[in-house]
Amino acid sequence: MNVFTTRKSLNEALAPLKEAKKSVGFVPTMGALHEGHLALVKRALTESDCVVVSIFVNPTQFNNMQDLDKYPRMLQADVDLLNSIGEVLVFAPTVEEVYPENDAYSPLDLDGIDQVMEGEFRPGHFQGVVHVVRNLFQIVQPTHAYFGLKDFQQVAVIRLLTKKYNFPIQLIACPTLRETSGLAMSSRNLRLTESERKDALIIFQTLKFIQTLKASKSPKEVKELAMEYFSAGKLRLEYLEIVDGSSLKALDAAWSEYSVVCIAAYCGAVRLIDNLELV
Ligand code: AMP
Repeated sequence: MNVFTTRKSLNEALAPLKEAKKSVGFVPTMGALHEGHLALVKRALTESDCVVVSIFVNPTQFNNMQDLDKYPRMLQADVDLLNSIGEVLVFAPTVEEVYPENDAYSPLDLDGIDQVMEGEFRPGHFQGVVHVVRNLFQIVQPTHAYFGLKDFQQVAVIRLLTKKYNFPIQLIACPTLRETSGLAMSSRNLRLTESERKDALIIFQTLKFIQTLKASKSPKEVKELAMEYFSAGKLRLEYLEIVDGSSLKALDAAWSEYSVVCIAAYCGAVRLIDNLELV
């Protein structure tokens, strides 16, 4: 499999494909790949002539240096996994390749959607995401880009940055893959002990609990009951928000057509996020 570490070598490989007007699907990741990532890559493989998967642990989106240090890195295993599902170009750049010295970036106005939930608890996180995605989009210049709804708010931010920077890229948001237990797949799950994996199930159980209450109660009432339900578990809740899926504004008295519940919580030292679209 082709692993490219410089933008120049990747561009050389992509040039003939672009000249031939082939579609390029792009799946940005931070590695430690699991079935959730592979679902994105498989979809890209069916929809695009060629697929680029980037593996880059982006330092600018971590507001906690310990989290960055502990983030799992396993490039060879990732490449082997990708090899087993099809032909893709892997882009595994250094920090200097993604952020060259002459790289100018001024924070992008995200119309407030970067201030709530993840944005509130991880200051600077979304500007880091915007910066890396902008640079990766500029390097790869894909026709299609695939993102997971597991990072629901991130998808909203990427939609907005694509529009604001006028990238001619079609974004495809893909559903969350879960373990059979309901736990959302995440690279961070590698850091959970067996008993923490069980404790973490309270997140999905709470999301489902909220779904069952939706028909008979207001978002405000549901949130109160859900917080109580969640507190019976062992996790430390950071936030539980019921929002309109487009504006990300918290819902209070009435449901919106597209209501989503988002949760972030610590399971031991590991921060987990999950969400559910309420139907
Ligand atoms: P990450 O490596 O965590 O930055 O994730 C790379 C991409 O994979 C992002 O678009 C994520 O939303 C997506 N992703 C991560 N976990 C899952 C999952 N369980 N199901 C679907 N997509 C996922």
